[in-house]
Amino acid sequence: EKSGTAQIGVTGLAVMGANLARNLARNGYTVALHNRSVGKTDELLAKHGDDGDFVRTESLQELVDSLESPRRILIMVKAGAPVDSVIESLIPLLDRDDIIIDGGNSYFKDTIRREKECAEHGLHFVGVGVSGGEEGALNGPSIMPGGSEQSYESVGPMLEKIAAKADDGTPCCAWIDTDGAGHFVKMVHNGIEYADMQVIGEAYDLLRSVAGIEPAEQAEVFRRWNETDLSSYLIEITAEVLSQVDEKTGKPLVDVIVDQAGQKGTGRWTVQSALDLGSPVSGIAESVFARALSSSEPEAREQAQEKLTSGLIASTGVAHADPEFVEDVRRALYASKLVSYAQGLDMLGSAGKEFGWDLKLDTIASLWRAGCIIRAELLGEIMDAYQGDDAPVNMLLAPGFLEVVEELVPSWRRVVVKATALGIPVPVFASSLSYYDALRRKRLPAALIQGQRDFFGAHTYHRVDEEGTFHTLWSEDR
Ligand code: NAP
Repeated sequence: EKSGTAQIGVTGLAVMGANLARNLARNGYTVALHNRSVGKTDELLAKHGDDGDFVRTESLQELVDSLESPRRILIMVKAGAPVDSVIESLIPLLDRDDIIIDGGNSYFKDTIRREKECAEHGLHFVGVGVSGGEEGALNGPSIMPGGSEQSYESVGPMLEKIAAKADDGTPCCAWIDTDGAGHFVKMVHNGIEYADMQVIGEAYDLLRSVAGIEPAEQAEVFRRWNETDLSSYLIEITAEVLSQVDEKTGKPLVDVIVDQAGQKGTGRWTVQSALDLGSPVSGIAESVFARALSSSEPEAREQAQEKLTSGLIASTGVAHADPEFVEDVRRALYASKLVSYAQGLDMLGSAGKEFGWDLKLDTIASLWRAGCIIRAELLGEIMDAYQGDDAPVNMLLAPGFLEVVEELVPSWRRVVVKATALGIPVPVFASSLSYYDALRRKRLPAALIQGQRDFFGAHTYHRVDEEGTFHTLWSEDR
C-alpha cells in the first residue's frame, strides 16, 4: 500500500481533536488531518495552519495514504458507536502493525473489545485517556495510554512530547498497561473529579449558608485556600467562578445559573464499575448521586421546599465569616478530598487484580500532577506515598497522610454535625467521614448482618474464635 510522510493522522477535528492536532504540529510532528465533514478540516487549516506542518485529507483513504509506515492514526470522534464505525472503515485500509489510537472518553470495556478486534487484523489498538479539556489538549494534557507495550514504543514518545510536564519536568504520560487500562484510569480520574467538585460545592454551601459569606467574598477565601494544602486547579477555578458577576442582572453569576448539574457519564461508569468490583467508592458515588438528585427531581424538590420543613434549627450560631468555622470547613474539605483519592486508588488496586493489569499507583498519581482537571499539590504527595516496596494498604494509612487525617478529624466532625443540625446536605463530607469511621471501627455491625443472612438464607458465617464455616440451627418456633 501507498505510504506518505506524515508522522501521525488525526481523524475527528472537533475541539479536542483539533487541539491535539495543533499540539502535535507545534511539537514538530507532521500531522495529517481528517474529519468526516471536510469543513472542520478547512476551518482548522484556515485559523491555525501556521501552527506547524499539516497535511489536508478529505477521505480516510487519503489520510491512510499520507502516513509513514507503520501508521499512527488518532481517532478523536464522538465516543461510542462513531468510534466503532471509524475503526471498521479503517481496518481494510491499514497494514499489519499499523496503530489505531482512540483518544476519546471511551468506556474501558469497549476498548478491551476493540483491542481484541484490531489484534485479529494484525493491528495495534491504543486506548488513551486524555484529560485537561480543550485547553489541556492544546497546551499539554495528562495522558493515560493503554495497549501493547510494542505500540507504546511507537506512540509513547509523541504522546510524552505533547503531554503536560510536572514541576520536576517529567511528562504526565506513561504507559499504564494493556488494552483498557488507560481508559479505566481516565475513568477513575473523572470519578475523583466528580467528588472533588462536589466537596468544593459542599464547602461553598456551608460558607454561604452558615457563615454568610457571599460569592465575591468567598472567591477570596478560595484564593487563600489555594495557598494551602488544598492548592489545585479546581480550587483556583472555583474562585474565578465565584467572582464572576452576571452582566445582565449584576448578580453573582452563580446565582443565576440553574442549580441542576449535568453529567456525561464517566462518573456514572466509575460507580458502575466500582459496584462490579465491590469497591467502596462511597464519596465518588455520592457525588454522582448528588448531581442526579439536583437535576432529575425538579418537581420533588419544588414540593419538598414547601412541605418538608420540620426539625431545622433557625439560627446558625456562627458569626459572619467566623474564621474558626471557615478553617473547620477547609479542613473538612481536605479530609473528604483525601478520602475520595483513597477510594479511587483503592478501586484501581481492585481493578488491577480483576483485569490483570499491573497498575502502578505512584506512576498514575504522577500523571495527574499536571495537565488534568484534578491536578493538585496533593498528587505529588500521593506519588511519594506509593513509591518504593511497602505501598500502603490504604492511602489514609500511608505515613504522611495518617497524621494529617488524624489532625483534620475534629474539624471534620464539627462541620458534619453543624450541617446535619442545620439541614444542609453534605453527602460527600458525611459519607467520607463514615468511610473513615468504618475503616477504623473495631467491630462493625456486619456481624449482625451475617447473623441475619444465616437466619433467612443459611448463608453461614465465620467465627472470631475458630476456623471454618458455621451455620446456626435457628429456633424453629419463630
Ligand atoms: P465530540 O463533540 O465528542 O465529537 C465530534 C466529532 O466527532 C466531530 O469531528 C464529528 O465529525 C465526529 N463524528 C461524530 N460521529 C461520527 C461518525 N459516525 N463518524 C465519523 N466522525 C464522527 O468532540 P470533542 O468534544 O472534541 O470530543 C472528542 C472526544 O474527546 C470524545 O470522546 C470526548 O468525550 C473526549 N473528550 C472531550 C473533552 C472535552 O473537554 N470536550 C475532554 C476530554 C475528552 P463531524 O464534524 O463530521 O460531525
